[in-house]
Amino acid sequence: MTRRFALMIDPVTVDEDRSDYSGTFVQVDAAAPALSVGELSTQRGDGVFESIGVIDGHAQEVVPHLERLAHSARLCDLPAPNLAQWRQAIEQAALQCGDGEAVIKLILSRGVEHGPTPTAWVTAAPASDFRTVRTEGVRVVTLDRGYDLGVAERAPWLLLGAKTLSYAVNMAALREAHRRGADDAIFLSSDGFVLEAPTASLVLRFGDRFVTPAPNGGILHGTTQLSVYEYLSGRGFDAGYDRIPAGDLPRADAAWLVSSVRLAAPITAVDGVELPVDRPLTAELNEYLLSPRD
Ligand code: PLP
Repeated sequence: MTRRFALMIDPVTVDEDRSDYSGTFVQVDAAAPALSVGELSTQRGDGVFESIGVIDGHAQEVVPHLERLAHSARLCDLPAPNLAQWRQAIEQAALQCGDGEAVIKLILSRGVEHGPTPTAWVTAAPASDFRTVRTEGVRVVTLDRGYDLGVAERAPWLLLGAKTLSYAVNMAALREAHRRGADDAIFLSSDGFVLEAPTASLVLRFGDRFVTPAPNGGILHGTTQLSVYEYLSGRGFDAGYDRIPAGDLPRADAAWLVSSVRLAAPITAVDGVELPVDRPLTAELNEYLLSPRD
């Protein structure tokens, strides 16, 4: 069982090349005070993060997560992370995650008001038990995100497509879904297209074709969706990106919410309309997602 701890990172610049960064990490107990009260991540949610699934001490898909961290940092004008340093911090944390499922989070914050800046740390903790939801699935409701598909391009300061720490809206959407008697939500654009869930990507099956909303519409490009697509392509399926009208959702032959820690959760109903569940493929996907992936 993984205990909770954090590695506080003294971030080096992107071009600093060392073979060993271990001297730049300080391990602290998760309950120990470690952040300044002037920390801009806590004051403004100003920073970016990643959540990485860890299975029996193996951190999954580290490179895609690091690449997305760098992408998010670029969108937020944060200093470029030194990925070799972050990778070593992840390795050091994963080594201490025991058997079972855990989650490692990477946090890169704007830093402390009036300096120093940026602040960086990695946390490790046991993952919730998602075994039931991976087989029994989730009932979802659709919720208006309030933006049209063109907004990411028109208003880049909204930081859509970056995994910022400002998840209050995503958490509010989940609470609204629960209030409506569902387990999760799917955001719709104001012009009527399907986007993503508050903490997961959406994959739909129509016959032998799999489709997910194109990531240029202001959604996060999911590492798990990419992994699932690699698996499906290897199985000979056609898996692509598209604009998906909301009206297509209840017509799907199967659908999943996919994310790094919960993995593939089949969708059992959308706005009260039952969806077919592809149990064999769901089991296959989760078996693949639970296998070591680099
Ligand atoms: N979309 C959003 C908004 C998310 O928060 C997440 C994950 O937390 C995802 C999609 C799925 O991303 P990943 O598969 O990399 O976990």
